[in-house]
Amino acid sequence: MKTLLVTGGAGFIGANFVLQAIADGLRVINLDKLTYAGNPDTLSSLSENERHVFVHGDIGDRTLVDRLLATHKPDAIVNFAAESHVDRSIDGPAAFVHTNVVGTLGLLESSRDYWRALEGAAREAFRFLHVSTDEVYGSLGAEGSFSEATPYAPNSPYSASKAASDHLVRAFHHTYGLPTLTTNCSNNYGPYQFPEKLIPLVIQKALAGEPLPVYGDGLNIRDWLYVGDHCTAIRRVLEAGHQGDTYNVGGNAERTNITVVKTICALLDARHPLAGGRPRESLITYVKDRPGHDRRYAIDSGKLQRELGWRPSQTFESGIAQTVDWYLAHQPWVQRVLDGSYRMERLGA
Ligand code: NAD
Repeated sequence: MKTLLVTGGAGFIGANFVLQAIADGLRVINLDKLTYAGNPDTLSSLSENERHVFVHGDIGDRTLVDRLLATHKPDAIVNFAAESHVDRSIDGPAAFVHTNVVGTLGLLESSRDYWRALEGAAREAFRFLHVSTDEVYGSLGAEGSFSEATPYAPNSPYSASKAASDHLVRAFHHTYGLPTLTTNCSNNYGPYQFPEKLIPLVIQKALAGEPLPVYGDGLNIRDWLYVGDHCTAIRRVLEAGHQGDTYNVGGNAERTNITVVKTICALLDARHPLAGGRPRESLITYVKDRPGHDRRYAIDSGKLQRELGWRPSQTFESGIAQTVDWYLAHQPWVQRVLDGSYRMERLGA
């Protein structure tokens, strides 16, 4: 049985990854600081599971990370822990540098020392996988897509901090030989996403019949990937990726923000019509654009598909319908986020 040290495993993607890994029989040591984005509720089904060990702590705490590595001897480390919300990075960039840059550096140093002390097959098989974003590549015009060779051009404090962490990972491979892997993924959506992000925010507001804020003209384009497909991509890269390489991950599902919002409106209208049958699209309200808002992201995940045989299982249409249904069925989870009670619970030591 393999053991993974997963960081940020109480957040949106990390928790989906942990739930999938545990279901597949792996053992997970889950290190999470439980910032506002870390939600113990998401992991409640694992409370009795002996293959899940939750540790409350910071990736930058070297004493703690060294102790976890020595105690649990993981076969690989998967680093999801990050400050992840672009708007928050505009209001307060320092926390993004603290975790995404300095924290990742500490984790890399501990991982390097741990890996150096391993021997034989364990040392050969060890991997450090860093989870990153397509936002490091900056903004595209109407044509083309990001490949692994696209130069970095981050435009927000969030993407700049992720770009810095990607470069540190690269440097630890080239300088110390640490067997690293990096994945750069497009926008995720699906179960357990914090309702500050576009899709769950719009679902909640549309359900309540509240105004639906859309930045600028609504024509910014993102590629969308169902979170479960991102998790299978990470597992595939972990198993078979070429050490030192980066892999782009995407859903081949470019949509304008306004299309995403209208799709959610139509799905909810069909399931829960508003009083008087008022179409939810009428709730759309255009608001002042985000400063430095990248216009278009599109990602070419051909390398991952060709070399490692990964394919997304969901189209945008099937994934968004499942997601709307998940939020409808899990309103207590959302309500505990919205009223803050999810923060009262704390897991583990
Ligand atoms: P999230 O904000 O939902 O979760 C982040 C988790 O990290 C939280 O549980 C938080 O408590 C934890 N954390 C924060 N600082 C920490 C620290 N110093 N030490 C330990 N834990 C800490 O984020 P997410 O959307 O799940 O994203 C996970 C990763 O995937 C991030 O690295 C992000 O850059 C990347 N990513 C996200 C997307 C997306 O669409 N959400 C797309 C591509 C890449």
